[in-house]
Amino acid sequence: MNASNIPPPQAALSVRDLTTTFLTAKGRVTAVDRVSFDVLPGEVLGLVGESGSGKSVTLRSIMRLVHAPGTIAGQVMWRGRNLVTLVDRDMRQIRGGEIGMIFQEPMTALNPVLSIGVQIDENLKTHTSLDRAKRLRRAIELMELVGIPEARRRLDDYPHQFSGGMRQRAMIAISLASNPKLLLADEPTTALDVTIQDQILQLILELKSELGMSVVFVTHDLGVVASICDRMAVMYAGRIVEAGPVNAVFAEPHHAYTRGLLGSVPHAGAERTMLLSIEGTPPSLAAIPSGCAFNPRCTFATDICREAIPAVSSIGSAHLVACHHHDRVAVAGGLRV
Ligand code: ADP
Ligand code: MG
Repeated sequence: MNASNIPPPQAALSVRDLTTTFLTAKGRVTAVDRVSFDVLPGEVLGLVGESGSGKSVTLRSIMRLVHAPGTIAGQVMWRGRNLVTLVDRDMRQIRGGEIGMIFQEPMTALNPVLSIGVQIDENLKTHTSLDRAKRLRRAIELMELVGIPEARRRLDDYPHQFSGGMRQRAMIAISLASNPKLLLADEPTTALDVTIQDQILQLILELKSELGMSVVFVTHDLGVVASICDRMAVMYAGRIVEAGPVNAVFAEPHHAYTRGLLGSVPHAGAERTMLLSIEGTPPSLAAIPSGCAFNPRCTFATDICREAIPAVSSIGSAHLVACHHHDRVAVAGGLRV
């Protein structure tokens, strides 16, 4: 989300009007609808929203992992080039190279018939000019970096021989092999127990500082947003409805959807608290309500909300919201249930 269409000069990634459609039995649906946001160098941007709001499709669209008859439109500016229109050969170089991705479910992203060592090596071969001996050394280093014990020996293991936590670490090692400048992390810790989650979050933060990487982090966990994200963007029905510095959004949500999601968070919000569920359910993509897609679930809604998609307003310098009644929502304060 951005009030202007001009990316800040310092942005590492600038997404503008990203729109992704799929062809379904009910016709063409829009899963990501004119999404705009920037990721600054070295920052962690949290992307939150209920299941089905378009977070994974947004990340997959940035990586161009949406195939026909699905369509991707808009701009994804990365190092002066628009990834949406880049030729496949160049995109393959960037995907898994300058931009790494950790998928929601490691088992679907890892190749079950190749050892972890071979999978790290493939990435090193594609994205670095290291010779064989140096690649082996680097693979061991990466395994150690992500905290996999007995790294040398475990290189020969296959994904099914790893526990859930170790598999997630292995996937991080593979995605980091190319020294990415941007990491797209799709709920990378959701399936893991709390101790391992904390270790992996710590690891991502350390790597971010060491490698000067930017991160887009999709999560359901507001504690994670509060503790590791600099800014956050809230998605609903394929659109970003609110975005801004985590402190500002937590302290004074301006969209009723954000207010609802944050409702269960005690003030500092540092503990592990899942997004609150809001009464009603998100719309099906085949029947997105007119106007503001949230209007049927919104206690602030009036006629205009059913008629017109709200424009993006700026609150202060970096906080943006798309709500016709954001002043009223802000005055209502955070829900504390
Ligand atoms: P989430 O925010 O939970 O990550 P997703 O981005 O996975 O949500 O999905 C957004 C919407 O797009 C969902 O309604 C999902 O069913 C739909 N969707 C995702 N991939 C496809 C596809 N290949 N074909 C049709 N619909 C899809
Ligand atoms: Mg998802």
